[in-house]
Amino acid sequence: MKNKIFHPYTPFSAIEKGFPNMVRGEGIYLFDETGKRYVDVVSSWWACALGHGHPAVVKAIQEQAGVLQHSITGSLTHPNVLALAERLAGLMPSPDRHTLFASDGCSAVEAALKFAVQYGYNRGLTEKTWVIGMDQGYHGDSLGALGAGFVDDFHKPFEKIVSHPAKLPFPLNGDFTPSQNVIEAHKDQLAAVIVEPLCQGSAGMRMYPASYLKQLADCCAANDVLLIIDEVAMGFGRTGKRFAFNHAGIDPDMVTVGKALTAGYMPLSACIVKDKIYDTFSDAGPADCTFYHGNTYAGHPIGCAAALAALDIYEAESTVERAAEMAEKMKQWMQPMAELDCVKELRFLGMIGVVELKPEAKPQVDKIKQSLLDQGYLFRPLGNVFYLMPPLVISDGELHAAVYALQHTLEDLG
Ligand code: PMP
Repeated sequence: MKNKIFHPYTPFSAIEKGFPNMVRGEGIYLFDETGKRYVDVVSSWWACALGHGHPAVVKAIQEQAGVLQHSITGSLTHPNVLALAERLAGLMPSPDRHTLFASDGCSAVEAALKFAVQYGYNRGLTEKTWVIGMDQGYHGDSLGALGAGFVDDFHKPFEKIVSHPAKLPFPLNGDFTPSQNVIEAHKDQLAAVIVEPLCQGSAGMRMYPASYLKQLADCCAANDVLLIIDEVAMGFGRTGKRFAFNHAGIDPDMVTVGKALTAGYMPLSACIVKDKIYDTFSDAGPADCTFYHGNTYAGHPIGCAAALAALDIYEAESTVERAAEMAEKMKQWMQPMAELDCVKELRFLGMIGVVELKPEAKPQVDKIKQSLLDQGYLFRPLGNVFYLMPPLVISDGELHAAVYALQHTLEDLG
């Protein structure tokens, strides 16, 4: 079915085949216009932690829509944004924080990158202008985010217009020394380091140990380099803890969140900043250090209502604890796939279960994906990598069935 949409992340060859036209969501399922039911195996781009149609989030959105639809956060407040900023600060290891709100993950990341650079400027450290990330890191598709992260398979056309003065190498075997060398060599230019905690999502669910993150935090602190932890994909329970950085016991200078912040029900993101940084953005001194940056929908009242409801549910339904329990089962159920001829390796982190196929299986990827779609499973492989990242509310039976569907399809087609 041809249409007028410029589809993101969609090759033209895929458009020719046509797509399901989704008209309704309920629990872990999406339903197309013919009534066919699909399991949302990747939680709608990793956002819908509570599945679809959770009545409490829907109600919060409906009620807020009848009261106040929009009012800005430049020189104004509203009750929801006050409550949410307080709540997010309270979720951090040290609560002395202020939060800048935005709309999408990448707009929260942009704010974090600019906070880092202006933090240097505010202190007279005008050489500190580099914000670097990890090789093949992903922090969104805006140009600033591409300067901090860069996935070769996606971003090649923009190679010449974003600069990467340095990068942290991916920590093979968790070795921190090569990263330490980069940070120490460039500490005078480095404003910040930004990483995806424990798992590089878009680069193919590449995982590294919490011990690396702890060493990174210590090294950044010792060298006056800020550490930005991008929890847009991992935050709010995905890894079996509230935030992935909790596995490392660190207290990051800045944390970016999005996606599951509202359980994927409204576009809202945030950058949560330590007060030692925030306090330098004052206009009280000789220089005006105001942060002249913002998005129209920063702190959107309906988005904040959805986020407050989602955070309530995560607590009331013990979503994080439940995810940690389910993760163990998923791992056990997926284990037999390690024996399949086409499989290179399995990887696990909380409710992320990864099956990386051998390079020779690459030509089969589209066929496997299509077969799973026909069976009613919405997988979105990254290159050779199939993964489950389902809504955290998935039941044992539903998860088991999804794992089995993948296993049998790999047996037949892989
Ligand atoms: N950071 C990370 C770690 C992400 O995974 C993503 C999106 N997948 C983003 C930022 C960008 O978020 P958005 O697509 O909402 O801009």
